[in-house]
Amino acid sequence: MKQYFDPLQQEAHDAFFVIGRDGPPEVLPPNTSTETFCEVLDKLRQICQAENVITGDDLVSFIDPFAVTSSHVPSAAVCPSNVSEIQQILKLVNVHKIPVWVCSRGKNLGYGGPAPQINGSIVLSLHRMSSILEVNERGAYAVIEPGVTFRDLSEYCLENKRSVWPNVPSIGWGSVIGNALDRGIGYNALGDHWHNISGLEVVLANGDVVRTGQWAATDAPTAYLCKNSFGPSIDGLFLQSNLGIVTKMSLWLQPRPQTYMSVKVEVDKFADIAPLVDALGLLHREDILQSNPLIGDVIGHLSIFNTAAELYDGPGPIPEDKIEDLRVKNSLGAWTAIFDFYGTKSMVLARLERCREVLEQHCPSMRLTSRLFEGSDNNGGVLEARKIAEHGRGEPVGVVGTSRSSMINFALPRDGKGHGAHTDFVPLMPNDGAFFLKWFTEARKIMVSHGFNAILGGRVFKKHSFTIQMMFYDSSSATHRASLPAMWRDLAKAAEKYHLTNYRSHLDNMGNFCPLSCSPSSSFRQNNLDPNGVLSPGKQGIWPEVWNKYRKENKNDETTTNGTTTPSISSLKM
Ligand SMILES: Cc1cc2nc3c(=O)[nH]c(=O)nc-3n(C[C@H](O)[C@H](O)[C@H](O)COP(=O)(O)OP(=O)(O)OC[C@H]3O[C@@H](n4cnc5c(N)ncnc54)[C@H](O)[C@@H]3O)c2cc1C
Repeated sequence: MKQYFDPLQQEAHDAFFVIGRDGPPEVLPPNTSTETFCEVLDKLRQICQAENVITGDDLVSFIDPFAVTSSHVPSAAVCPSNVSEIQQILKLVNVHKIPVWVCSRGKNLGYGGPAPQINGSIVLSLHRMSSILEVNERGAYAVIEPGVTFRDLSEYCLENKRSVWPNVPSIGWGSVIGNALDRGIGYNALGDHWHNISGLEVVLANGDVVRTGQWAATDAPTAYLCKNSFGPSIDGLFLQSNLGIVTKMSLWLQPRPQTYMSVKVEVDKFADIAPLVDALGLLHREDILQSNPLIGDVIGHLSIFNTAAELYDGPGPIPEDKIEDLRVKNSLGAWTAIFDFYGTKSMVLARLERCREVLEQHCPSMRLTSRLFEGSDNNGGVLEARKIAEHGRGEPVGVVGTSRSSMINFALPRDGKGHGAHTDFVPLMPNDGAFFLKWFTEARKIMVSHGFNAILGGRVFKKHSFTIQMMFYDSSSATHRASLPAMWRDLAKAAEKYHLTNYRSHLDNMGNFCPLSCSPSSSFRQNNLDPNGVLSPGKQGIWPEVWNKYRKENKNDETTTNGTTTPSISSLKM
């Protein structure tokens, strides 16, 4: 099935999901007979037309291409084109109590892609709802449907010479809405998407449509500009959630600046991560930094251009002395931080000066390089994002690429055979350098002890960071499939000691992180919003009572991993 009009995005989809892949085994929805399932499929075909109801081998586009287990296989996929079709689908699955797993483009790679938590769920893919409804330059926002990808929005703004830059992540074929709802992050001054959502249109499990914020008021002139509600704000209920299906979103964009500067900071020792994070934290607190620095290590950098087998021909992970050789040979820092400045030239230069001052105080031997871009006279002094992207990274200026997708093959054997895959463990941390160093030292030991290369990095936000433990593997290798869950569990156990919680997680591990903050919404949904538990049960460890049996199966450890005393959702009596 074609998922994209754009041949480049379809090619990327086929490369990851289709080529060299077999269709999934046939499964039925839970508690459903073959006869009932056939009846449901017929009705879905009447609602959405036959070609938009997917079964059999074509379901290859709706399974997790990085899976290490076979426990997340859909029975079918259905691809509606509007809100009315979604409402009819919900009515039908509520009658038969069949769970649907909602995705927009389903490119949630590393976290399960489009695959459902419960085997036999029907994937409800919104990729056909792909209209850009508005791009507003004065208000610097866009109003979009779920099927709009980062590349679609980026190309729209570039082709139409709009004076706004979308906030894009490392790969472009994912949904802007899907990424924002899963609390994804881009690279420009807007940072993470969810802080820039200014309104949602949502279909609830019973088919009701709600709009949030000022958008809830008919024709409000502030609909996409102001996040205030008169009363409680409910937008957050739909983030990393299974309380509704988001069918439209308004999202802020970055106004195109007068000048742009990319900055790179390198430090040479593993222990330098501590002063580096402290310096970046201070610069954030002073409002000097505008974007959120991405920190990477030597192997993380080299993995964009090489496989592990090309870098090292010994057994097991690359040893520390070899990593140091590679660092020196490739003139890299042990840690490299990249970030960007935007604004008038004098403002950008002033930010750079303060940045250099703070970094020199904290990391006297650091190397700082920067590159300033200004608009050319023959273009009226306007910055041209595409031209900037030709000289370096496009993401900070709203131009998408696939720059990091090559990393996926890092763990493949020398002959290139197998299926490159990745996932990560990403605990949230305070911006505290000593804590970073302690954590990375421990995380590195754990990853190496399981036979994996420890690829470490992070993103430094205003007051907190993510530390990223990147795990590349070959999903066709029995050894990798066996070792990966054990490594993930050991990292989670180590994080538990420090009371750290995870930012986002693969389906296999969602059951191990169900923080208390989820519980009111869970109770709310069970009683009121979704009594049959049809919407994405198990998303982020939130299980309606009716699927309790599956909740227990999804929790792959005896203890919770975000604090030993955290009660399970269903045990809370609200
Ligand atoms: C090489 C590589 C680089 C990556 N770089 C980044 C990066 O820089 N930043 C980043 O954030 N991620 C990154 N990722 C992770 C991931 O690929 C992206 O986040 C991707 O955008 C997610 O897929 P999607 O946008 O198609 O969302 P989807 O898969 O459609 O949605 C994600 C989840 O959100 C929920 N959801 C989606 N749509 C709806 C809806 N309409 N209503 C209710 N719930 C919904 C579902 O639970 C779904 O599972 C990277 C992955 C790889 C492999």
